[in-house]
Formats: sequence, C-alpha cells, structure tokens
Amino acid sequence: MAALLGNAPHVRTIAAQSLKGLTSPDNGLVSPIHFATAYVRDESYAYPTGHVYGRSDNPTLQQAETLLCAMEGGDDAMLFGSGMSAAMAVVMAFDQPTHVLASSQMYYGLRRWLQAIGRFGHTFAFCDTSDLGEVEKALAARHPGLVWIETPSNPAWSITDISAVCTLAHDVGAIVCVDSTIATPVLTRPLAHGADLVMHSATKYLNGHSDINAGALVAATQDALWARIRDWRAEQGIALGTVEAWLLARSMRTLHLRVSAQSQTAALLAGRLQGHPAVARVLYPGLPSHPGHVVAARQMSGGFGGMLSIQVKGGQAKALQVARKTSLWKCATSLGGFESLIEHRATMEGADAQCADDLLRLSVGLEDPEDLLRDLETALSCK
Ligand SMILES: *Cc1c(COP(=O)(O)O)cnc(C)c1O
Repeated sequence: MAALLGNAPHVRTIAAQSLKGLTSPDNGLVSPIHFATAYVRDESYAYPTGHVYGRSDNPTLQQAETLLCAMEGGDDAMLFGSGMSAAMAVVMAFDQPTHVLASSQMYYGLRRWLQAIGRFGHTFAFCDTSDLGEVEKALAARHPGLVWIETPSNPAWSITDISAVCTLAHDVGAIVCVDSTIATPVLTRPLAHGADLVMHSATKYLNGHSDINAGALVAATQDALWARIRDWRAEQGIALGTVEAWLLARSMRTLHLRVSAQSQTAALLAGRLQGHPAVARVLYPGLPSHPGHVVAARQMSGGFGGMLSIQVKGGQAKALQVARKTSLWKCATSLGGFESLIEHRATMEGADAQCADDLLRLSVGLEDPEDLLRDLETALSCK
C-alpha cells in the first residue's frame, strides 16, 4: 500500500493527499461512506471488488487503513473498535502458547489484561524496557514469542530504544510490537526502527477530537500472524465501524498540525513548570533531565509529544486539589484530544496503580500555551 505513494514523502504530505484510487467514484476529493454489509456477486459468481461481508471489511474502513498504513510506512494496516481490541488481537493470534515480554511501565488496561493471559495458555513477564540490560536478562531467562513495548510510556513517559530492543528480540526469534499511541507517526515511525507491528489507540491522537473509540495495527510485512489477526478480527466482529472509520480518516488529515502544536506547547510548559516552587518534578522526554532524553532525541523527530506529568509538593492531597482547581484543564481521563486534560493517575488506576500518588498527568490540547500555563499556575498556588 505504501507503494501507492512512490518515493516515501513526508507524513504530512501523505496525510494531506487524497491517495490514488481512494477518491470517490464520482471524482469527489472525498469518498462517500459505504454502509453496505453485503456485496453482490457478478455473472461468474465471483466478488468483483473483493468485498464480501461487512464483518470482515468495507471500502470506508480500507480507505482509513490505507492512509494510516502509508503514514506509518507499513505493508498493511487494520482498524479495530478500540486500542484494547487491537492489542488483544496480536496476542490472541498466536496459535501456540507463547511467552509475552512487556514494558513494566505501560497503559494500565493492557497491563491488567496481560496479567490474565494464562487463561489462554500464554505466559507473561514485565521488564523495564528502557534499560537494555534488563531486556537482555529477561530475554535470556525465557524466550518470548512477542515483545511488547510502549514508548513514550504512560505515565512517566519513559523511553524505550526501539531499534536496540528489536535487535535483541529478533536474535531470540521474537517479534516486536510497539504501542506508539503517544508518539504517532508524526514523531516516530517504529517500523523504520525495526518493529514488526505498530499499535495505536486511535481514540487518542490519531482521531484527536475525543469523539470515537478506535484502535489500529500496522504490519511491516503481511505474514502468517497477520493473516490470523485478520481472521480473528473478522470472527470476533471487532473491526472499526464505518462512520468511525470515515471520521478517523478525516481526523488524520490534520494529525501533523495537532501533534506539532501539542508538542510545542508541552515543551514550553515542561520548561516553565520545572522551576515552579510547588512542583517537585516534571516528567517530559524533551527535558534534558528526563532519563530517556538522549534516546528520545535520536528516536523522535519534530518534537517529544503532547504528554507530560508533574509531581507536586504535598503528595496526593495537593495533587487532587490542583486537579480540581484548574478550569481550562478538564479533569477527565484519556488523552490526545483538542482540549487539555489533567488527571490524577493513581486514582484512575486504582488499587494496583504503579505511579506516584503525587503525579498529575497532563494531556496538552490546542489552547494557547500562556492561557494553559496561567491556569495551572493559579491552581498550583491555591492554598
Ligand atoms: C488509551 C490507550 C490504550 C487503550 O486504547 P483504547 O482505545 O482506550 O482501547 C492503549 N495504549 C495506550 C498508550 C493508551 O493511551
């Protein structure tokens, strides 16, 4: 599919183009939404377009997939009803009991699900994938079939060196899937760093308007595992809905503008909050003080993302107070939308939360940076 565009143009060029063959039959720049759930056979009793039944695919879904595939520089892409269903499809497509090695710092919903994959015959282990020595040790202890990394990872934005982990994992015969929800193809294209699969919660930046749940996988090559993922999606009926796919494709057109602006604002806030008397620590990979900064600077291009976290002085009580006192920053979970959100992550993750209880996660939106800073400073200085 990437070949549609010939000689790999920039992600923003890809996103802004009506990909060849994907415009509407009436030559409109934008394709209509295809609602059909079944397709008519021709005189030879074949399906002339390849489309058969709506649970497997449809032309609107494929349009969004083609766009994302080109943006990630992949061989093929699939969209799902959520990020979780996309991630779970990868594990469920292994036809032999397999061992999964995953980042110890990752999206908590998926971490929780992985902890229960024993019921499907699989095993798991977590390790700090930002530490290559730890990765080597874990790979030597037990050969996994799948290495799962999230970078930058929730909620301290630790950075994993994708190409180094891929080299180590491939040496023991494992494939590597990168949850690239936070980086998006604007800042990092994991397949170019050696990853086999890229996963997104498209609910977040790819859609960016806080109005659909969606997930995505992009493959470097269409191998047997990929075919089983496709079968699993069709069998389960977990492909993204038609209207959602159309909205997602529409949103991805502006991904570059949104992520660039959000990264710029996040960098500005991170720098300015660092010196604030009520802030103990700012976690942002763009800061030289962040443990993953050197790798991030090499691996990410065009910014360090729109997510940062702050640890406030005064513990959990103060953190909750700050979250409640902001007015521009809305207290809500999720991330990557046009509006800025603040969240006390430990409350959200509940009893087995692994993050500090004084940590506030900030998802930077598209508002004016100075307005956002003023609102936070006011909340931080409330007694
Ligand atoms: C939200 C999120 C997920 C889960 O995706 P859903 O679309 O909510 O199912 C997975 N990984 C990361 C990094 C996320 O932020």
